Amino acid sequence: MIKLYNTLTRKKENFVPINKNIVNIYTCGPTVYNYAHIGNMRAYIFMDNLRKILKYNGYNLNHVMNITDVGHMTSDADEGEDKMLKAARRENKDVYEIANKYTEYFLRDIERLNIERPEHIVKATDHIKEMEEYVKDILKNGYAYETKNGIYFDTSKLKSYGELSKVDLKKQMAGARVEVDNEKKNPLDFALWIKAPKEHLMKWDSSFGLCYPGWHIECSAMSRKYLGDVFDIHTGGVDHISIHHENEIAQSRGATGKNPAKIWMHVEFLLIDNGKMSKSLGNVYTLDDLEKRGIEPLSYRYLSYTSHYRNKLNFTWDGIKSAQTALNRLREQTLLHKDKEFNGKNEEIDKKVNEYEKMFRDAINDDINMPVAISVVWKVAREHNKSNKYFELIKKFDKVLSLDLVKDELNKENIEISEEIQMLLNERKEARKNKDFKTSDILRDKIKDKGYIVKDTKDGQIIEKE
Ligand code: AMP
Ligand code: ZN
Repeated sequence: MIKLYNTLTRKKENFVPINKNIVNIYTCGPTVYNYAHIGNMRAYIFMDNLRKILKYNGYNLNHVMNITDVGHMTSDADEGEDKMLKAARRENKDVYEIANKYTEYFLRDIERLNIERPEHIVKATDHIKEMEEYVKDILKNGYAYETKNGIYFDTSKLKSYGELSKVDLKKQMAGARVEVDNEKKNPLDFALWIKAPKEHLMKWDSSFGLCYPGWHIECSAMSRKYLGDVFDIHTGGVDHISIHHENEIAQSRGATGKNPAKIWMHVEFLLIDNGKMSKSLGNVYTLDDLEKRGIEPLSYRYLSYTSHYRNKLNFTWDGIKSAQTALNRLREQTLLHKDKEFNGKNEEIDKKVNEYEKMFRDAINDDINMPVAISVVWKVAREHNKSNKYFELIKKFDKVLSLDLVKDELNKENIEISEEIQMLLNERKEARKNKDFKTSDILRDKIKDKGYIVKDTKDGQIIEKE
């Protein structure tokens, strides 16, 4: 049985999907106005672990992730400047070029982390009609009103408003601040549909004139289209809880009367040197920044396993270097089991394999406990009595971990190579990472003496027979 922590109930719950074998999931995806940073990537690694754990348990998935390619404001609460427009001005490009460029980079980044693409990756700009329909449903049910600036959700109509964040938002906000739109009835009311000022670049013809959607409505409209009114799991970052997800729930209650997801899951933040990531501190790092320092993107995935997803994760350069070293060691230790005949009885190794498999499964099924899961992998890898069965077991675990523990990326043509050559290749890879090109060249010559040629490509070393 899988247990997942539900932000809605503040409890770990036994996971029982609505339909027997297929799990319907929605993940709030990126706003594509800039390169994604490693904090963003923590959220998608979490999403990928959830996917792969469900698959490990035999479920099929129907998973939707949106791409926000319509600008929303710098703050979640409809205020500030439109992020997409700001980026377009910064790069002197049109907003659609900006969206395409950063969507491509995002997809490349998740691939570098072995993050599988959800079954549906959907763009907000392809679903404007669905959003308008959704807004109309909310209006029809009496949960929204029109002002000269747009259509607003009327939070005073919804008794349960605040059900996810569990704070009395209404009390908190009473008389809080001067409003941008003085026609808004309550400070908490939020824009569903915005009447576009003349100079606004992204706008669409609608029953309310030229408009553009509020941010929250895209997720409600797209989740309903692909997953129905109520689905199994909704994921995002902890920053989504109090505004974005609260408002998604309000919209669904307004349109369908229901909370759209059974389980709401949220991943905690990544800190840098125990503090916030920010442009002004110059510490907003991307996967490219890691690679520039000789660090493989997957060591960031490894680092993310050192902390549970509901705890903050601290990034330091020393920490990521240790993660890289640990990952290399783990791969080497794993490889030592390859093709080895167990020195002992069959029953003994089979029993151990079963025990380890259970320990791993218990860890991942306990609300995605990756720190415990990775410790189990180490136990298997470190077994003194080598066996190919351990190798196969780690290969199975890696379907969830996705750390390339056994994939021989060095060996693109699937040439059978001995363990000795593999070790030389590993050492050379390490040397190149440390920019020790002298050692790297010596190792290349050693490998050549054994009849193989190593080539360096952007994806790493490739080996060919001489
Ligand atoms: P955005 O593109 O800004 O909407 O963010 C994409 C995802 O990254 C969201 O799920 C955020 O919650 C998440 N996110 C942003 N910053 C961090 C951070 N420092 N640590 C973890 N997740 C983050
Ligand atoms: Zn969303």
